[in-house]
Amino acid sequence: MEKAKDLKIAVLIKQVPATENVKINPETGVMMREGLDVEVNPLDLHAIEEAVRIKERFSGGPQVTVLTMGPPVAAKAVRYAISMGCDGGAVVTDRAFAGSDTLATATVLAEALRKLGPFDLILAGERATDGETGQVGPAAGALLGVPVLTYVSKLELQDGRLTAERAVESGHERFSAPMPALAIVIKEINVPRLCTLGGKLKAKKTEVRLISLADLGLPVESVGLRGSPTKVVRVRYPQVTRRGRKISASEDFEKAVGELEHFLAEVNG
Ligand SMILES: Cc1cc2nc3c(=O)[nH]c(=O)nc-3n(C[C@H](O)[C@H](O)[C@H](O)COP(=O)(O)OP(=O)(O)OC[C@H]3O[C@@H](n4cnc5c(N)ncnc54)[C@H](O)[C@@H]3O)c2cc1C
Repeated sequence: MEKAKDLKIAVLIKQVPATENVKINPETGVMMREGLDVEVNPLDLHAIEEAVRIKERFSGGPQVTVLTMGPPVAAKAVRYAISMGCDGGAVVTDRAFAGSDTLATATVLAEALRKLGPFDLILAGERATDGETGQVGPAAGALLGVPVLTYVSKLELQDGRLTAERAVESGHERFSAPMPALAIVIKEINVPRLCTLGGKLKAKKTEVRLISLADLGLPVESVGLRGSPTKVVRVRYPQVTRRGRKISASEDFEKAVGELEHFLAEVNG
């Protein structure tokens, strides 16, 4: 077994509504999350799985810490990651974070990573199924000033370096970067495991730390709506209209084709 003395890994995970049908408040432009069931962002399960696989691959037990920014109930997401094999985790939570855009979110996460770290490797998912910008991982890496590898489908660590295969349109690229580094994984990288009963019991007993704005020491203007240069100006849903008509060809085929021709000409203006 390879050795990885004192290797520290962090995984960024987001708790998201357990539905693809997220509604936006048309007045405020903010996501309406009330009353929705939540789960760990499905793409983040691959980041958790990869961290746990690295932990299992190396002797000397690399420590895997899970980090999420969200309401205190996001501790449930952290516990889920612990039940998959991570060692511990924290929720960065404060009312002042409400309304944070991707830059403000990344600012908070980067500062929390600095406080809990330093980490040799930070893993994140490709995108969150609710916000879907894919910006938070790269932004956090940029704020920390570490190399960022995106679309990672294979990951190897050796001698303080990280080598990654990146899935691109034309195939795969191979990159290498010194650690500390941040890697954004895609779902092709692995198949996330299911939680074991032992994992669930461990997760129940593990304390999940809550980290506030004061703990981070960030100025209040750098987080929440005030720290968010993105402003939702207007939210508009595309109109789905189906002007369908049933045309039967069972009795008079020629007539049905004529009717269809006429209908298509009418629909296409
Ligand atoms: C003006 C504005 C106001 C907003 N106000 C609110 C609001 O009031 N409440 C609200 O909930 N959202 C709000 N949002 C949405 C919020 O900015 C995004 O949900 C958040 O920044 C994450 O972006 P994303 O969902 O696109 O994640 P992505 O960038 O798609 O996520 C990529 C990866 O980054 C990591 N990641 C993302 N978010 C987190 C997180 N929170 N913790 C840990 N890791 C994470 C995960 O690994 C994830 O797979 C607002 C957005 C804007 C533009």
